[in-house]
Amino acid sequence: MNIEPGNSGERIVNPDLTNDDSGIEHALRPKTLKDFIGQHRVREQIDVLLSAARKRGSAADHILLSGPPGLGKTTLAMILASEMQTPIRITSGPAITHAGDLAAILSSLVEGEILFLDEIHRLPRPAEELLYLAMEDFRVDIVVGKGPGATAIPLQLPHFTLVGATTRAGLLTSPLRDRFGFTAHLDFYEESELAQVISRSASLLGLEIDVKAVSEIAGRSRGTPRIANRLLRRVRDYAQVRGSEKIIHSDATAALQMYEVDEKGLDRLDRSVLLALIERFAGGPVGLSTLAIAVGEETETVESVAEPFLVRNGFMARTPRGRIATALGWQHVGRTPPAGTISLFDTPAPDA
Ligand code: ADP
Repeated sequence: MNIEPGNSGERIVNPDLTNDDSGIEHALRPKTLKDFIGQHRVREQIDVLLSAARKRGSAADHILLSGPPGLGKTTLAMILASEMQTPIRITSGPAITHAGDLAAILSSLVEGEILFLDEIHRLPRPAEELLYLAMEDFRVDIVVGKGPGATAIPLQLPHFTLVGATTRAGLLTSPLRDRFGFTAHLDFYEESELAQVISRSASLLGLEIDVKAVSEIAGRSRGTPRIANRLLRRVRDYAQVRGSEKIIHSDATAALQMYEVDEKGLDRLDRSVLLALIERFAGGPVGLSTLAIAVGEETETVESVAEPFLVRNGFMARTPRGRIATALGWQHVGRTPPAGTISLFDTPAPDA
């Protein structure tokens, strides 16, 4: 839930938390597991985990939540705390610059407390090493002094539950990963689930909205509740300026057209990458840096902001020879794919 600066922060379809969201998100967060929409398997598993911990009368096992931004990792951590009726301490990997910062947090926890460590893959190595002992034996060794005279004083910690969140589970070291009793992976949401998220948020915001407007917004939300809630707010603004009491389908389409979010959720950057690939490089293959120059963006922006969504949705593919547009990509920009263009179903495995 860290606030991302820079380029992607200005995009309406940015899945990271932006300044625009930070006030409202808290109000829209589901507070109980029952209100948490979708992710049925994860919800069920967490339900069992919590019931068992309650029965034992002890803190739940350490939990690792992985998945792309905006899918509900922070929300789940807060739900865990409220379901267990325990306090929660929230911090993140990049906020901990020294092992001492983490030791101070750990030693001030109370029995049963949840420590939510967002972006745990960005924890500095000495802090990570300190965490091993804390997770396993509820102990930290405080080193006093320097050099040969240094001594380690063991400090017993209360039993706490670590909830780690990561968008990059692959970057976690195995000693850290192995110390979690339970790992849950959150997946992108179905359109019908996003429609439930939007209806729920609309009612919390006191908005009247018709079902067609709800499904229009859901279809453009890139499988991500955070984006769904943001698009709903922009559509609401549009309807309010128009002076309508109820948000209708044409408000949703007009507002989202104004914000340049198309019917599949592509924004201006995504479309310009796809168009450049098709119009200037005949659908590829083309190297990433050449493609980035063609759209006047940094390579990093194209690779980390536009490409993951385009690849995940089958509009473009990464091949060992470069980026190529798929048949779906050609069709999406209103072009007929040349013979031999790969379709969504025979997309080669990504090379990176
Ligand atoms: P993450 O920590 O994975 O980046 P968050 O937990 O901060 O994501 O979720 C972003 C926003 O999306 C929350 O404020 C919440 O309103 C909404 N949200 C996420 N998951 C759900 C869900 N399953 N049901 C309803 N709303 C959700």
